[in-house]
Amino acid sequence: MVNSIHFLLTYSCTWECDHCFLYCSPFSEGAFTMEQIRSALTEATGLGTVTSVYFEGGEPFLFHPLMVAAVREARTRGFQVGIVTNAYWATTVEDAQIWLATLVELGISDLSISDDTFHQDSDNNTAKNARKAAEALGIPVGSICIDPPTVVAAEASEGNRGKPIVGGSVLFKGRAADKLVADLPRRPRSTLKTCPHEELVNPERVHVDAFGHVHVCQGISLGNMWQTPLSRLMKKYRAEDHPVVGPLVKGGPDELADVYGIDAGDSFVDECHMCFLVRRALVDRFPDYLAPRQVYGIDK
Ligand code: SF4
Repeated sequence: MVNSIHFLLTYSCTWECDHCFLYCSPFSEGAFTMEQIRSALTEATGLGTVTSVYFEGGEPFLFHPLMVAAVREARTRGFQVGIVTNAYWATTVEDAQIWLATLVELGISDLSISDDTFHQDSDNNTAKNARKAAEALGIPVGSICIDPPTVVAAEASEGNRGKPIVGGSVLFKGRAADKLVADLPRRPRSTLKTCPHEELVNPERVHVDAFGHVHVCQGISLGNMWQTPLSRLMKKYRAEDHPVVGPLVKGGPDELADVYGIDAGDSFVDECHMCFLVRRALVDRFPDYLAPRQVYGIDK
C-alpha cells in the first residue's frame, strides 16, 4: 500500500556525486512542470492511501519557486511534505533562513540534508548552515550521511570471521556501481538471490519523475503515469507479472541474469551492484520498464 510519493522534481543537480543512485549532474534533463505536479497530486489523492509527499532530485532547490509552489499545493491538499536537499544554497545561516522562510509558513514536516564527505567539506559546510537555519526557524530537520565504502573484517557473529566485507552505507547502483567498486571485495553471483533494500511486492513508497516513470527502485519503472493514471498503475501492479521485478522477487539479481541470459560477471560487491549491471544490459529490451536511460549512465 503506497503511503508516500517521492517527486524527483528535477534530475538536474549542482554536483555529480560518485554515489548518486540516479546518475544526476548539472546536465541531467527532466524537471516537473506545475501542471504535472498538480496532476500527480490529484492521482495521489485518488489512491486514498498516500499521506506524505517528498520533493527531491537531483537538487530541488535549483527550481526554488516551483518547489515552493509544489509544497503549497501539496499542503493545501492535506499531505505531509518533506524535502531532500544538498544545501548548496545555504552559503550563510542568515541567507539559508531567507531560502527557508516560505517553507516555514507552509509547514513542512521534514528537511533532510545531505551532510557527508560526498557532498561537503569541513571548511565550507553549507549543510551545517542549513541545519542551523532550519533549527532556528523550527523546521524539523535531519541529515542524510552516506559513508564511503571501506573494507572491514566481518564480525564473528556473522559466521565469516576475518573475511573482508564492505562497510559504509553506499548502495552500489547508479553512478556508484561504476565509480566506487574498484578494489572492493566481491561475492559470487550465486549468493545474490534477494533484493535486500526495497519492498518490491508491496511498495510503501514510489518515486515519480517528470517523464512519467513510477520507480519501485531507482530505474525500475512500474509504468508511465502520463499514459496510465498513477492510481490505475498502482492498483494493477503485480510484482510477479513485471518482467524485471518478477525475477528479482523470485531469486534476486542472480535470477534476473539467468532468466534473460545476461553474463555480467561472476562476482559482485553486493546485490545492487549485480542488479544494476544486469538491468543496464536489459535497457534496450525493456525500455518502458528500465527507464529513463540516463539513470543508467547511458545516453537517451
Ligand atoms: S537489489 Fe536491485 S531492486 Fe533491490 S534495491 Fe538493489 S538495485 Fe534496487
